[in-house]
Amino acid sequence: MVEPKKKYYEKRAQLLLKNLHNRHFEAYYCETAAQALEKALELIPEGATVGWGGAMSAEQIGLIASLNAGNYNTIDRDKATTPAEREKAMKQCLMADVFVAGANALSIDGQMVSIDGNGNRVAAIVYGPDSVVIVAGMNKVVDSLDDALRRARTVAAPSNKQRFAVQTPCEVTGTCADCKSDGCICNQILITRNCKPAGRIKFVIVGEELGL
Ligand code: SF4
Repeated sequence: MVEPKKKYYEKRAQLLLKNLHNRHFEAYYCETAAQALEKALELIPEGATVGWGGAMSAEQIGLIASLNAGNYNTIDRDKATTPAEREKAMKQCLMADVFVAGANALSIDGQMVSIDGNGNRVAAIVYGPDSVVIVAGMNKVVDSLDDALRRARTVAAPSNKQRFAVQTPCEVTGTCADCKSDGCICNQILITRNCKPAGRIKFVIVGEELGL
């Protein structure tokens, strides 16, 4: 990370953290992915049942590998051998002690936008697990809620769709066409504007570019 960008992220993160705290979220800023991994592991007690969904940033900082290798009861849908097992794992995540996810976009005033195809990720963010740990790079932070919705719909979702086989307009053109197709990954759009109970959702904000 070049120095001016590092300073830019640090200064912007101070305002973001203040606004997240005002909305009763726990929030931490970590300059590097290595520091973010350490912080995220501090927030997840050993022995906990941990699930995740839509967590590319958590994967990039090494959190998913550390959880799978550590003293945790992990629910990893990618280890399922049938669609039924995968579905079961996704439902089990709703009862996990801790749920790990990423953010499609964050507004600087402290609101998170999440887009979901099946709804498992947004369901667990809303209710179920006692603790939710969100890992997000500063590249996800934009200036307003409108910008966050726009980023989630026009950048995060079409980029994310490139990972899946079922065809949608954005997979072909890279641009959202507001589809209603079978493969649509934008069936649920969640705005998380305040944290209740206070501290249930914990943000690990990273001064690096992570995720899509
Ligand atoms: S084209 Fe469909 S799947 Fe792609 S970003 Fe738009 S609504 Fe989502």
